[in-house]
Parts: sequence; structure tokens; C-alpha cells
Amino acid sequence: MSRLVVVFAVITFVVACSPGLVQAEPGLTALIVDGQNNHGNWPTTSKMMKKYLEDTKLFTVEIATTAKSGTDESFRPDFAKYNVVVSNYNGAPWPEATRKAFVDYVKGGGGFVVVHAANNAFGDWREYNEMIGLGGWGGRNEASGPYVYFDAEGKLVRDEAKGSGGHHGPQHPFQIIVRDGQHPVTKGMPKAWMHVNDELYDLLRGPGENMHILATAYADKGKGGSGRHEPMIFTVEYGKGRVFHTPMGHGNDSQECVGFITTLQRGAEWAATGKVTLPIPDDFPTADKTSQRKFGE
Ligand code: ZN
Repeated sequence: MSRLVVVFAVITFVVACSPGLVQAEPGLTALIVDGQNNHGNWPTTSKMMKKYLEDTKLFTVEIATTAKSGTDESFRPDFAKYNVVVSNYNGAPWPEATRKAFVDYVKGGGGFVVVHAANNAFGDWREYNEMIGLGGWGGRNEASGPYVYFDAEGKLVRDEAKGSGGHHGPQHPFQIIVRDGQHPVTKGMPKAWMHVNDELYDLLRGPGENMHILATAYADKGKGGSGRHEPMIFTVEYGKGRVFHTPMGHGNDSQECVGFITTLQRGAEWAATGKVTLPIPDDFPTADKTSQRKFGE
């Protein structure tokens, strides 16, 4: 008994005196994948997302970049080294071995974060579309799965109508409506908040299985939208893996939105660990006011 007390006292003393044990290095690792994208600002948005994740003090972040065009046979990241992979990639198919490694990684419990045009990629890669739930362009149509949205009564609709997937009107600021405020990612967010100028993706379609919509935005017909409440923050369970998806984030200004930054940070933490410890910051947008942090390069 007394020996146990001594051991406990020694451990307590060592922990208390060792800043290295108390103030740990970031314990999580993230990999951003990029290299091809119809959005020319992708090198900047990758840098922005890297900084946002590092700012949390939770993540060490690396970037893996493909060749500028075509299938890059040398693109073979070791996904298994990372707690979460963030895609800023919208380009040519990855090599077969890389695709298989990525499916195994997520299925086996890896985290995956999909941002904006990353959901345009790989229209005919079945497993990828199962992971991301919904996508746009890339040849997507009724064969890809239903349109998924909320109707005016707040009811989830899975619409099998024929038609292409993916559309948006001109960029504008729009309001995000939180539909599930109990999920770790959205907990504590205001029920409604204004997103900075962005493309409001509508008419996305895909398998939409094991998908949970946390927030939507109304795609106003007066702004060139679908007239539907479109998914803006959602999750997908894929095997043992957690996928976090936001179609927001077109421009540098869109990614300067404090709502976007917070959503990305918390979504990445959740995808990596299943929990969220990051708080909602004081400068988070409100129901009628956007909030933007200028990104200094
Ligand atoms: Zn865009």
C-alpha cells in the first residue's frame, strides 16, 4: 500500500515538473492532397487550410501535390500515416494502387474531409462517391444517385428525378441553417449564421448513404439557385471511417469566413478523432452579419 502511494507521488511529481508531458506537441496528423483543380487559387486555399488546421494546435499538417496534369503514377501518399486526409483535389484519376490504398484507409477508420470542388472529382469512382455522399459535375446524373435536400417544411428529400448533378448561381453571401445542433461539429453554433461570399452548390447528387446533414443553405431562385435547402455541412460513415464534407470554400474570400474556418477545423478534428474539443470563436458570424479574417500570405 505504502509503496503504491510512493509510486503515485513520484508520477505526480514527474508530470507536474515536465512541461513536455503537460504541454504536448500536436498529437494529430493531417494530409492535404492537391495538385489539379479547375479552381486556379488552389495553391492558396491549400496554404490557408494548412494554416487553419495548424492554428488549432491539434494538427501537424503536410501537403501532397500531384503532377500538374494527367494521372500521376508517382502520387502514392502513405495515407495510413495520417489521422485525416483533406482533399483540395479536382483532377485526373489517381493511380489504381493509390485509389485502392485510399479506400482501404478510409474503410479502415481513417478520417476524410471534402471541401468544395473536391466533390467534383472522380465522377465514375464508385467508392469515392460512396465516401463523399454527394457530388457535382464530373458526368454525374441520375445513375450517380438521388438529389438530396430539405424541403420548405424541413423534411429530408431523396429525389430520383433525371438530370445532371451540380450547379450554382452567381456568388453571394448566404445564410447557413444548422439542422442538427447536437452533433460535435455544430454544437454551440448559432442556429443561423451568415457565410461570406461563395458559390452556393445546389443539385448535388450521389449515393447519399449513411449520410447525416448538419446544416443547409437556401438556394434562392432569385439568386440563380434551385429553390431548395441544400446540404452545406454533412457527414458520411464509410466502413469504420468518418467523412466530413462541406461544399463551401470556392474563393479565398469564402475561406476567410470565420464560419468556414471553424467548420473546417472542427470537421477535421471530428473526422480524425470522433470528438470536437475546439470552441466556437468569439468572432463567429451571426444570423445577419458575416465575419471574415483576412489571410496574410
Ligand atoms: Zn467553385
